[in-house]
Amino acid sequence: MLLRVPPCPLMALTPRRDQVLRVTASNEEQIALLRALDEREDLQVDFWRDPTKPGRPSDLHVPFPSLQAVKIFLESHGISYSIMIEDVQQLLDEEKKTMMLARGLERSASTFDFASYHTLDEVLCSAEDGPNLRQPGTTWALGSHPALSAQFSTGGSNRPAIWLDTGIHSREWVTQATGVWTANKVTPQWGLNCLMDIFFEIVTNPDGYAFTHRGDSSRCWAPTRSINAGSSCVGVDPNRNWDAGFGGAGSSSSPCSETYRGPYAHSESEVKSIVDFILGHGNVKALISIHSYSQMLMFPYGYKRTPAPDYQELGVGNKVWVHEVSLAKKAVNDLAAVYGTEYTYGSIVDTIYVASGTTVDWAYENGVKYSYTFELRDTGRYGFLLPSTQIIPTATETWPALLDIMLHVQQHPY
Ligand SMILES: [Zn+2]
Repeated sequence: MLLRVPPCPLMALTPRRDQVLRVTASNEEQIALLRALDEREDLQVDFWRDPTKPGRPSDLHVPFPSLQAVKIFLESHGISYSIMIEDVQQLLDEEKKTMMLARGLERSASTFDFASYHTLDEVLCSAEDGPNLRQPGTTWALGSHPALSAQFSTGGSNRPAIWLDTGIHSREWVTQATGVWTANKVTPQWGLNCLMDIFFEIVTNPDGYAFTHRGDSSRCWAPTRSINAGSSCVGVDPNRNWDAGFGGAGSSSSPCSETYRGPYAHSESEVKSIVDFILGHGNVKALISIHSYSQMLMFPYGYKRTPAPDYQELGVGNKVWVHEVSLAKKAVNDLAAVYGTEYTYGSIVDTIYVASGTTVDWAYENGVKYSYTFELRDTGRYGFLLPSTQIIPTATETWPALLDIMLHVQQHPY
């Protein structure tokens, strides 16, 4: 009698080796093909960096089961690619291991380790305990979690203010970590002679951030966690949800897209709360919204190519935005002076692509003249899975750039 041999268990033991591919389209037709790839629900691919224009690399996270199909697709259409991250799981495992180690050390020493990534609760607790991070500001409920907006003020009421936010895209962990570090830097460095208030929201998408800590499969979640009516797909891109060119190019009407703009402008409480705050305050002079990754410093516009209204007012001759470009240039130069990290800079539309409904465009169109967005480290070697050893270097080099903008705003009242 022959014994039935059970199915080979090796398949089950094969590690999931999701990869991130760096894909470079050489023409518009290939870009359209890549966008179509993104829309295919069967493949579950996720662009970490969107395909935007020919010659500009995009980064594509491909789940292990789709790897072969995606590579065949790219090769059959002559689209060039290389492997950027060979084994996503290995980075996830290392990230978890270092977080566990740091948490153990923190508990035994009763300290907060700025060089480690933290959960939402840990960040909120650090804010309550920290000597410099004063709450409130404002605390508001966003989705199912509280959001923290810290206020730094040396007194007075309704003084000119600067708004800073990190983590509106939840998977960009180095931004929340930079936010915690920076918030503790602000008070001693900002000094008691400061004429402006600072409002700083560190975990700007708390539901999303909590979700990224739930497990490997949700670590790279970027959007909010809104239930989308009529769709099984969850979440809205909170950087396409603002009422500035809302619904235009560079945002999607598909609830399953990474750049889904939402059903209407300001549909997301994460966005609406900032809108209400800035409009209610009425004296916010600068907004700095911090993302990762790509090493860029950008300003309006994202949704259109026409020159900004300040062009004539600034009297800058035939150089559009020379005022902001020079400030951006100074900021990236001072950032690079720390460790040599190179940033590109310019308007969103010139630097990356047309993007509608973004934070900085809305702020600019609502009276916040100095409106900037950072994309922190790196340029794709680790992408959103930047090792925690790079948190403090990232925060440290970003600080002089932030300071350049904040001091410039203070010295150029309007
Ligand atoms: Zn982002």
